[in-house]
Amino acid sequence: MAAKMIFVTGGVVSSIGKGITTASLGRVLINRGYRVHALKIDPYINVDAGLMNPFQHGEVFVTNDGAETDLDLGNYERFLGTDLTGSSNLTSGAVYRAVIEKEREGAYLGETVQLIPHITDEIKGRIYGLAEESRAEVLIVEIGGTIGDFETPPFVEAIRQIRTELGPENTLFVHVTLIVQVSPWGEIKTKPTQHSVRALLSLGVQPDVLVCRSPVELPETVRKKIADACGVPLEAVLSSLDVDYIEEVPLLLEKQGLGDLVVRRLRLPERERRGQEWEEMVHRLKNPSNFVKVAIVGKYTAHGDAYVSVKEALKHAGIANDAQVQIKWVESEAVEEADLEATLADVNGILVPGGYGYRGIEGMIRAIRFARERGIPFLGLCLGMQCMVIEFARHVAGLEGANSTEFDPNTPHPVIDLMEHQRRQRNMGATQRLGIYPCVLQDRSTKAFAAYKQTIILERHRHRYEVNNLYRDRLEAHGMIWSGLSPSGDLVEIAELRDHPWMVGSQFHPEFRSKPLDPHPLFVHFIRAALEFAPAKEVSGRS
Ligand code: GLN
Repeated sequence: MAAKMIFVTGGVVSSIGKGITTASLGRVLINRGYRVHALKIDPYINVDAGLMNPFQHGEVFVTNDGAETDLDLGNYERFLGTDLTGSSNLTSGAVYRAVIEKEREGAYLGETVQLIPHITDEIKGRIYGLAEESRAEVLIVEIGGTIGDFETPPFVEAIRQIRTELGPENTLFVHVTLIVQVSPWGEIKTKPTQHSVRALLSLGVQPDVLVCRSPVELPETVRKKIADACGVPLEAVLSSLDVDYIEEVPLLLEKQGLGDLVVRRLRLPERERRGQEWEEMVHRLKNPSNFVKVAIVGKYTAHGDAYVSVKEALKHAGIANDAQVQIKWVESEAVEEADLEATLADVNGILVPGGYGYRGIEGMIRAIRFARERGIPFLGLCLGMQCMVIEFARHVAGLEGANSTEFDPNTPHPVIDLMEHQRRQRNMGATQRLGIYPCVLQDRSTKAFAAYKQTIILERHRHRYEVNNLYRDRLEAHGMIWSGLSPSGDLVEIAELRDHPWMVGSQFHPEFRSKPLDPHPLFVHFIRAALEFAPAKEVSGRS
C-alpha cells in the first residue's frame, strides 16, 4: 500500500502547537496500529538548522545520521517512538539549492527554471521520496510558518497538486488555528480562523479538519459556526485546549474522534489498538508520588525552547522514578557573580547542558564546583561535561588556568581541545562531530555502567572539542574516571567522579534519544540520585 498523506498547516499566528498537534496525530495513529512517519517543512531559506541561533529558533535537534534539524523533529521522535533522519526536515534553502545545482549541471535541458513546476516538483519529489523510503502507511507532513506568509505558497501549491494526484481518499488536510477570547465578557471569536481558512482557500486548499487551539472548550454552537463558515463537517472541528503535559494531547484528540475520522476518511484498514502503553504513561506522569527540583544552568535559559529535549528527557526520567521534576532555570552568566547559596542550595540536582562560546562559562564552572563540593547530583551534557573537566582540573588537579581552547586559545592547560585530526583540518575550518557514534563502557563498577547495564552504547554527538588525551592520566590520578571511550580508546565519551554520589558528564547528547516510553538511562539514574539527595535548604513544594 502506498503511503496515505496528511498535511498539517497553521493559521492566524505561530506557536499555537502545530508541531505538537502533528506529533500527537502521529501518536493517535500509532496507537491504532499504523506505521507512521513524519516530515517537517521549514519555509525559511537556511539550508538546515545547523547555524541557527538557539535564542531565535530554539534547540537544534540532531538525528542519528547527523543532520541538524528543527526542534519539531524531536517532538516527532518522542511521540512516534521512532528515530528519524535528515530526510524528515526540508527547508526552502535545501529545495532551492537542489534546483539551482541541477540547473547548473544542465539537468533542465535549457528550459526556463521556474517556481512552478521546478521548485514545486522538487518539493513533491522529496515528499514522495520520503513516503517510499520510510515504508510508512501514513506520512504526516507539517508545513512550518503560518498561512499568509510570503514563503509558504510553493509548499502549499505542492501539496495541492499531491491531493489531485493521489485523490481525496489518500490525502487529508488538517489546519491548526487559533480561537481568541475577547474581554471583558470573554467572548469567543472565530473570525481570525475564518480569515485564515480563506487565505488557505485562495491557495487552492480546502481543509478537511480544523484543530482549534482555544482557551476554553468550544461550545457546539461555536463549532457549528466555524464548520459552516469554513466548509468543514461539524465532527471535524476539534478543540485543542491548554494542557499540563503535551503527552495528553493525543488522548484528547482521540477522545474527540480524530482517530475514527482519519481512519474513515483515508479508508485505512482497522487494526488492533495498542494505545494502552501511552495512556498508562500519561497516568503515571500526572500522578507522581515524589518530587525533585533540578537546576538547569545554561546560557540560553531565556528562551523556553532552547533546551527542549533536555527538559523533556528530565520529564521522562521523572516518569520512570515516579517523580515530578521541577526545573529551576538558572542563567549561567548571572551565576558568575550571584550568591550560589541563594541560587542552588534548594535543588536536588544540577544539570549543565550544551552550548557554544565563552559567555556564561565561568558561571557554569562555579555551579559545577558547588555541585562537586556539596555532593549534589550532577549531569553535564557535552559543554557541561567539558566544564566539569575544566573545573576538576583547576580546583582538584591543581592545573591553574585550565580551560578549553574554544574559550582561551592561550590557556596553559588546554584540558579540552580540538583533537589532532581536527587540528590538521583547522585551516579548512574544523568540522563538527555529528550524529551517532558507538561508545564503549570501560568498567562495570562505574555509574555509567550501572545506568546503561551494557557495554556498547550508541549516542548522538554535536561538538568539535574533546577531552585532551595529554591530561587524562593526571586527572585520573585525582579521581576522575573515564567511564566511556570511543571504540579505539582515543576519545573520551563519558567522565565521572570517583568521590562523589553521582557526578557524570557525557561528550554526547543523551537528551536527543530519550522518549516518554523509553526514558534515557543516564537521565533516569540522575533523577534517581537527585531523589536520594536532601538539599541544604528545604525544597519548596509542588507547583
Ligand atoms: N562548544 C563545545 C564544542 O564544540 C560543546 C558543544 C555542545 O555542547 N554541543 O565542543
